[in-house]
Amino acid sequence: MVIRLHNSLTRQLEELRPLRPGTVTMYHCGPTVYSSPHIGNFRSFLFADVLRRFVEDQGLAVTQVMNITDVGHLTLDDIEGGEDKMEAASKKTGKTAWQIAEQYIEEFRLCQQQLRVRLPHHMPRATEFIAQMGVIIDDLLAKDVAYQVNGSVYFAIEKFPAYGKLSGKVIDELEEGARVAVNDEKHDPRDFALWKVDAKHQMQWDAPFRGGSRGFPGWHIECSAMSTHYLGEQLDIHTGGEDNMFPHHECEIAQTEAHTGKRFVSIWMHARHLLVDGKKMSKSLGNFFTVADILGKGYTGLELRYALIRVQYRQSLNFTLAGLDEARAAIARVQQCRRRLVRLRDGLERAGGDSLGEAVTSANEAFTAAMSDDLNVSEALAAVAALVAASNKATPLRDDATAALAAFARFEDVLGCFGDEPAAVDEAPAELRQLLGQRNAAKKQKDWAAADRIRDEIAAAGWKIVDAPTGARLEKA
Ligand SMILES: [Zn+2]
Repeated sequence: MVIRLHNSLTRQLEELRPLRPGTVTMYHCGPTVYSSPHIGNFRSFLFADVLRRFVEDQGLAVTQVMNITDVGHLTLDDIEGGEDKMEAASKKTGKTAWQIAEQYIEEFRLCQQQLRVRLPHHMPRATEFIAQMGVIIDDLLAKDVAYQVNGSVYFAIEKFPAYGKLSGKVIDELEEGARVAVNDEKHDPRDFALWKVDAKHQMQWDAPFRGGSRGFPGWHIECSAMSTHYLGEQLDIHTGGEDNMFPHHECEIAQTEAHTGKRFVSIWMHARHLLVDGKKMSKSLGNFFTVADILGKGYTGLELRYALIRVQYRQSLNFTLAGLDEARAAIARVQQCRRRLVRLRDGLERAGGDSLGEAVTSANEAFTAAMSDDLNVSEALAAVAALVAASNKATPLRDDATAALAAFARFEDVLGCFGDEPAAVDEAPAELRQLLGQRNAAKKQKDWAAADRIRDEIAAAGWKIVDAPTGARLEKA
């Protein structure tokens, strides 16, 4: 099946045609590690994860790189103003910028685990790639596309006429925005920094290129260095949040293409912002949630993942707590269905004569078609729900139960939001199993009142007693 993805650069759906047949290279702008990851960040990271999983599902190999920005990302990066986010967090907490980075890298990795993200093959830190950035800066200086002022280095955008092609920003508009920032060093207010000199900055390096001064890199050059180091001069896919498009990705294109002379990325993909309760997430509105906040409310990582991926990445997604409850119910429906199929497959329930073959085939086809259409996850979830409905209606042949389970395993492999295949029977906690024994004894003695009381007690714990010819057993209610 042909995979079609929306390319932000051409503003149309394009077929994914890897430069090296059979292998797709992907680069994702990762977190800036100055605070706890919030659910808006993870909408974008989970989109990248689902993209990778589906491409792999289609039989292609993937090499995936996600960077960690631990220096150089300014609080007002669109106008090259404010201060380094790492340094600002350092001032607020009294920790060093290095300690801040360690703390939030660890937190980010924990969130990846909790949200069942398949780990990218490489997750480099910007601070470990200063030398590679120097190689590019050196070359841009030699080509006269960049210039040095007082040890800092700026990219001259007049030397790159295609600047603005991704974001569609016209030159006048750019000038208007850049005028806000006062920086006498720049020849043109729209130029952007590759290397900055600031004696007060905590994270500093000797210039990794000829003739520069001690300083730190600009945010944009980091991604060019890390992506090309691992994936080569040309990538198949580059993703980020929609706010990365300008200036970050625009600048990545300019400096990388000026350096290599080749098209940098085939397909640019951008995830839309997450809305919470219909509004942009902000601390002042009280609708700002970190991943830890949501898990602290008793929701699981799986439920949060479901709620964040359930709408196609380019559509606006309104996140609500009610949406998490819906996610919980939807996951339970799938898992209950799978559990019954497991029991049928394993002979714990009598199989019937209904055929499910057609439902399995059409669910698989609809799922593939939906995902191939620019990762239309909501349509793909509809295909999963259709197979649940068909399975619940049928008492299938044992082989068909097996086939349906394989389809559900595939859906889980791609979306990762349902959980592993459930066991045929849940092992009830020891105290409930003990109660079941007491109830069996009460029944034997024909003490119906006691038997009923114990049954109610078990029900209150969320379990039910199933009387079967082989004896009574406990099942999750
Ligand atoms: Zn980036």
